[in-house]
Amino acid sequence: MSVSTAAADQSVCTPLPVLGRDVTVPLVTGGEVTYAALDYAASAPALQRVWDDVAAYAPYYGSVHRGAGYLSQLSTDLFENSRKAVAEFLGCRLEGDSGESRSNKGGGGGRREGDQVIFTRSTTDSLNLLAAVLPADCQVFVFETEHHASLLPWRDARVTYLNAPRTPAQAVETLERALADRDPSPSSQLRSSRGGPTSPALVCVTGASNVTGELWPVKELAAAAHAHGARIVLDAAQLAPHHPVDIEELDVDWVAFSGHKLYAPFGSGVLAGRADWLQDAEPYLAGGGASRKVARRTDGGVDVEWHSTAARHEAGSPNVIGVYSIASACKALTEAGFDRLVAREQQLVTRVREGLAEVPQVKVLSLFGDDAPRVGVISFVVEGWNSSHFAAALSAEYGIGVRDGLFCAHPLVRTLLGSDPQDPGECGAPEAEPGERSLNAIRVSFGAGT
Ligand code: PLP
Repeated sequence: MSVSTAAADQSVCTPLPVLGRDVTVPLVTGGEVTYAALDYAASAPALQRVWDDVAAYAPYYGSVHRGAGYLSQLSTDLFENSRKAVAEFLGCRLEGDSGESRSNKGGGGGRREGDQVIFTRSTTDSLNLLAAVLPADCQVFVFETEHHASLLPWRDARVTYLNAPRTPAQAVETLERALADRDPSPSSQLRSSRGGPTSPALVCVTGASNVTGELWPVKELAAAAHAHGARIVLDAAQLAPHHPVDIEELDVDWVAFSGHKLYAPFGSGVLAGRADWLQDAEPYLAGGGASRKVARRTDGGVDVEWHSTAARHEAGSPNVIGVYSIASACKALTEAGFDRLVAREQQLVTRVREGLAEVPQVKVLSLFGDDAPRVGVISFVVEGWNSSHFAAALSAEYGIGVRDGLFCAHPLVRTLLGSDPQDPGECGAPEAEPGERSLNAIRVSFGAGT
């Protein structure tokens, strides 16, 4: 996809080179066409730059944190430098960081110190890690509109599911009300803004919806959480590929995101932010790398002293290529300049939405309304069409790759389609006969490589 006005406008960049741009695919109607990848929200194609960086490093890779050999030392340096690059991308300050090289995205007030950047497998893994380290009594607040990765990990805690808001302001009000009403806990030292003792609390919120692309009022939600003595984790899986995410500027306690949505390959993710809950908890995985000292006891058992740094939750041999890829992608996006990437993406958003508006049978799904700021993620239904058939036809007849279904956000999509969000329904892509109301939707998504 190209935008003719982009070349003339200096504030807008050209698409970043990605893998697979020139892939041709066969069409059922005969012949072949250059594939149009419009499913970035599921997994974005890797940046060519990331692939080149990995290819340059691959011949030299060795064990991390384990060996005295040259390649092990090199890999360990790359791994730890990747941590610093991700910290810089998010505006985190790792322990011992002077702060002089803080990100280019504002902040820098020096309030945060001793943040941790923990490498995981994905956003899902990062949020499950945080769920595993919640303090006793912790109450979790989450909107029903969240992706399942944000909605489900907390089920062992006390969870309050918040109803879908219809405006960003309503989201803040809903959260404030829920936090103000939260259960008192005599065992906690925390005090709410009204002075009463409260249990520890965590709010989990997405920065940009994987269904509507709409931006959530993260700063305001963070302010509400903190005013009530709660902490907040930002699910930035869909936000980080499209917008700068500065942990200090947004004033969130943790950020989670995935490499494969940020133009790196699969298999790596990040949980970054405050150290305290993390450094005191049982390791997410028990094993080598997380343990500082292990000794047999005289009673036959084993004593373990765990690391208190990120290593505590990174047991096992790490995915050094995946981690290096994330760092490379972070640097590539920062160097390209988010201002210009956003400007380009907004041109595409406008163009796609205008195109869809010309088709009377199309209904674009939105929680916050047409004017809400959004990233390049647009879901819609086509009257008279089963969304799965429509998506299959786009691929088979036009070589356009989109996603259909409920996008791992079943309650939200059901609300947007006018069905009951509490209906367990079916998983995946339920069938509707042509002419019936759609039970699932079509999603087009794109970004810096489009
Ligand atoms: N959060 C949001 C908003 C997402 O869109 C997704 C994936 O689509 C996730 C979390 C989970 O990401 P992953 O599958 O990489 O763990």
